[in-house]
Amino acid sequence: MPFIDSHCHLHDSRIIPDLSVIIDRAVNAGVKTMVTCATMEENFELTRNLAMDHPSVAPCFGIHPWFIDSVSAEWEKKLENYLMAIPSGVGEIGLDFVDKEADQARQIKVFEYQFALAREMGRPVNIHIRKAWDTLIHILKRVGKLETPGLIHSYSGSADMVPVFEKYGLYISFSGSVTHPGAKKGIQALKRVSPDRFVIETDSPDILPFFSGIKLTGRNEPANLAGIAEIAARRSDADPDEFICRAHTNSLRLFESIIKKERNDGSPFR
Ligand SMILES: [Zn+2]
Repeated sequence: MPFIDSHCHLHDSRIIPDLSVIIDRAVNAGVKTMVTCATMEENFELTRNLAMDHPSVAPCFGIHPWFIDSVSAEWEKKLENYLMAIPSGVGEIGLDFVDKEADQARQIKVFEYQFALAREMGRPVNIHIRKAWDTLIHILKRVGKLETPGLIHSYSGSADMVPVFEKYGLYISFSGSVTHPGAKKGIQALKRVSPDRFVIETDSPDILPFFSGIKLTGRNEPANLAGIAEIAARRSDADPDEFICRAHTNSLRLFESIIKKERNDGSPFR
């Protein structure tokens, strides 16, 4: 059964030294595509190179809300250039109001700029939202339903908001956080999401999943996606095969424009 990791960070310094082993392990575990998200200008080039060098890697470019202070004077142009240069999505972009000291107005400005660019260019968008749900809904009400869909990564909102985001053309992405014993809210959201509106991700190297009986330490990696999918299916009372198949179909639909197609003989090409 094939998998698509809808959100990870292969450019991360915890991944790069073992990149080829990590990609091999992922592909052997059935993870045929990894959607890797840059987070700041500094890792745009590396993200592009990863996508050029590895047929299983699909890139997204964006400024993460944690790194808005790192931007150069030309960041908007730079972002647009990378998006033009290669089939790619916009991300990881978003709003994170967990830190009470965060400059929310600036985050909103940077997010709105990138979100508008994604819509203008017709690119899928990979969104990070923490404790900023009302602000996102407010923005969505203004822009209306997305023509090219996007996802909310490692969804941490309420089950009640799931249909609202679906209505605006967003997919709900579930990470290894739903494998943890206390993940009640995440499981409620999983049970609420429409069959054609969810995808799965690892957020590697972060969000280490909880596999009972196996002690995972250190960094997370895309090969863990199969285990995450099985636990997520079981905990939401879904048939694992059907769950995995739907997650794959949904991700293909969402990232259609940036995933490299395969030849009939299975060998990948750009
Ligand atoms: Zn991420």
